[in-house]
Amino acid sequence: MAQSDLQENKTAAGTVQEGTGERGGASALFPTYSRYPLSLVKGHGSWVWDDQGNRYLDFMSGLAVTSLGHAPEKVREKVKAQLDELWHVSNLFQIPQQEKAARMLTEISCADAVFFCNSGAEANEAAIKLARRYHQKVKGTDRYEVITFEQSFHGRTLATLTATGQQKVKDGFLPLPAGFKTVPLHDMDALKSAIGPNTAAVMLEMVQAEGGVHPVDRGFVQQLAELCKQEGLLLIIDEVQTGMARTGTWFAHEQYGIEPDIFTAAKGIASGLPAGAMLAKEYLREAFTPGTHASTFGGNPVSASAVVATIETMKEEEIPKRAAEMGKYLSDRLRESLADNPFVKEIRGLGLIIGIECAEPVGDIVTAGQKNKLLFVTAGPNVIRLLPNLKVTHEEVDQAVDTLAALIAAHTAKEDNNQ
Ligand SMILES: *Cc1c(COP(=O)(O)O)cnc(C)c1O
Repeated sequence: MAQSDLQENKTAAGTVQEGTGERGGASALFPTYSRYPLSLVKGHGSWVWDDQGNRYLDFMSGLAVTSLGHAPEKVREKVKAQLDELWHVSNLFQIPQQEKAARMLTEISCADAVFFCNSGAEANEAAIKLARRYHQKVKGTDRYEVITFEQSFHGRTLATLTATGQQKVKDGFLPLPAGFKTVPLHDMDALKSAIGPNTAAVMLEMVQAEGGVHPVDRGFVQQLAELCKQEGLLLIIDEVQTGMARTGTWFAHEQYGIEPDIFTAAKGIASGLPAGAMLAKEYLREAFTPGTHASTFGGNPVSASAVVATIETMKEEEIPKRAAEMGKYLSDRLRESLADNPFVKEIRGLGLIIGIECAEPVGDIVTAGQKNKLLFVTAGPNVIRLLPNLKVTHEEVDQAVDTLAALIAAHTAKEDNNQ
């Protein structure tokens, strides 16, 4: 890396850093994020630029959001056209763009009915509400409890952080809402003994993403789906990160040979505009009658047109298939380049969500990556998480893999010197 690059990053650090206690004075924001000292101002395809003119290869995609790359043309044109017509209208009126987005989502999945909101947490919140309402109003039972799994992540609202199987998101937020239980993943006995007369649903991700990029075992998922049927429980799949072609199929659950009763999507659904969706089977439709659930902004004309254009583009360009192919290419290349390195414990994932489990914390490698103009994130302390856009090219993958291999080699050499 050139000395001038370092220099530039230091300068940027001095001016835009914010987010921790000692630096927080300069910012009017809550210090909820520990932000990197980079200001990204422009994006195109797999590349983003900072305010100093430096170009970065983006292998995080705004956390699995910009799945068609930055500023994809068709989505940009459609959203611009919508901005010239109408920005917002209440859900008390017909919204054709929202109808179309919902129809398209039902055509690419096993779902029959869609509710639009603005984020992943809200989509999961809607899923939990729908499960309770279905049992209590349609079935006339008093089932309300949702069982989730350790190391899961479902969001930051009070209900979804309670559903999340990680203590760190709950600290200091007591009392938590009632009606949630968490059991170890892949432990069928623990799951069976957690099920009681009040259990309404089981909720899980197909790949635990924030929890370290752990694909859930296929046999376990199939047994779980069977158990839910026997016990009259709803199966909710959180596809907020794995959905919308990220794993090589429209939704990851397709690869598990199951059809959930309810699933959720958000991150990649609108190419970067805020949108979320809760999707469900026909028999759940009547549980959400008028007035039972709502969102002011949910499915508004601008975000709904972004959803429509995103799905149209993904269909035209066969993005699910492409994500599967490029996911295989990326993980093969990583295995080739990193397999002999004892620092690398495991490379795992599904499609284009890939985790590299390392022997030690990888935070320094992420910041070294930024200095070398490659952006990626972690998933827990020891896991490097790669989330390129789904149109990423072979050349871009090659470049990212070479940079990563060099970063890991430099990191391990430094560790050896320190000993
Ligand atoms: C990101 C994420 C959420 C939360 O989505 P927000 O849009 O941040 O509310 C929920 N579940 C999973 C699996 C996620 O990856």
